[in-house]
Amino acid sequence: MEYQSLLIKYAEIGIKGKNRYLFEDKLVSRVKGALKKLPLSFHVYKYNGRIYAEAERPFDLPQAVEALQHVFGISGISPLVHKELMGPEALIQAAVEYFTQAHPDYAGSFKVMATRANKAYPLESNDINRAVGEALLGALPKSRVDVHHPEILFRIEVREQINFYSETIPGPGGMPVGSNGKAMLLLSGGIDSPVAGYMVAKRGVSLEAVYFHAPPYTSERAKNKVVDLARQVAAYAGPVRLHVINFTDIQLAIYETCPHDELTIIMRRYMMRIAETLAGQSGAQALITGESIGQVASQTVQSLVSTNEVCHLPVFRPLIAFDKQEIIDLSKRIGTYETSILPYEDCCTIFVAKHPVTKPNPGIIRRSEEKLLPGIKELVDKALAEEEIILCE
Ligand code: ATP
Ligand code: MG
Repeated sequence: MEYQSLLIKYAEIGIKGKNRYLFEDKLVSRVKGALKKLPLSFHVYKYNGRIYAEAERPFDLPQAVEALQHVFGISGISPLVHKELMGPEALIQAAVEYFTQAHPDYAGSFKVMATRANKAYPLESNDINRAVGEALLGALPKSRVDVHHPEILFRIEVREQINFYSETIPGPGGMPVGSNGKAMLLLSGGIDSPVAGYMVAKRGVSLEAVYFHAPPYTSERAKNKVVDLARQVAAYAGPVRLHVINFTDIQLAIYETCPHDELTIIMRRYMMRIAETLAGQSGAQALITGESIGQVASQTVQSLVSTNEVCHLPVFRPLIAFDKQEIIDLSKRIGTYETSILPYEDCCTIFVAKHPVTKPNPGIIRRSEEKLLPGIKELVDKALAEEEIILCE
């Protein structure tokens, strides 16, 4: 079957009242962006609460679907066949031709559902339903009509032209990126943080990201891995500016000054502070981490309280109640898993203590941090001043 058009359905933006057109326009622009990667050009437009994408000639359906499955806000994708407006008899014949080609030897249940925006058309919707239904039963003797729970809903739209479609491929859901502000993702080379970024972007939030590395303790290879992950997240979230922060001197200062069982927690607090400064500079209104309750010592509830204490912006932790296996499954589905499991050195694990505190006492942590003053401020300012920004798309 050759398709030349797609009908793109969206669900949740339908409920946005007066702002609806803003969401629709965002989605149209995301759809255009995704389809630009294909070798032929599409005309993308809104019509009657739907988005249509029409190509100049028949296209490779799996490739187009794959591109659109990266566009948040799409609930379903239906390949569409357009026909010039034609008389009732020709319409019935064309409908049978379409259906028998799209579903050869079909032996299941179906329902025909016509809509007639063009009120001048000589047949009413119900007449079309009946006539096409009967013709299909004749052409596909093993099929049957089920008006309540059909396996295939065959839609016929009679407008200035005629559209046939009978298949809806699920989209990724969510809301169009850019419709819900911006957040700063703390992106490491692990499994969790790319998934966390994906989940928040799915709600329409655009992303910036920050990666802390500790050269020479962490390698260029580890950094490139994070760049790869940022690119993979950007395939869904749109272009991501990745801020690379050299954390070595800050980590060494903490290592030399603070009790070793508190290292990870204090490091995490400095990461959050720096991420928040970067967020302020780039207009991001929240932070995102891949933390999940109890996964490691720095993610017990008490540790999360301690990390959170230094933040003023909201911290989104979409994986907070996920099991590791659930996170792994999601990372495989979105395509980041294979990169995440490549071996690398993480700045958090290089200076890690044998027995990190699992129930940090807020007062004690604050007192340890005071010993870092005033020198640490200069190190933080230097790290920020020397940031490297990599555009990942
Ligand atoms: P991940 O798989 O995302 O690395 P993790 O299970 O290894 O997470 P931690 O190392 O404790 O957990 O980190 C918790 C969160 O802190 C990460 O999900 C990430 O958001 C952030 N983070 C940790 N290390 C870094 C880093 N080097 N650069 C940026 N963010 C980091
Ligand atoms: Mg990690």
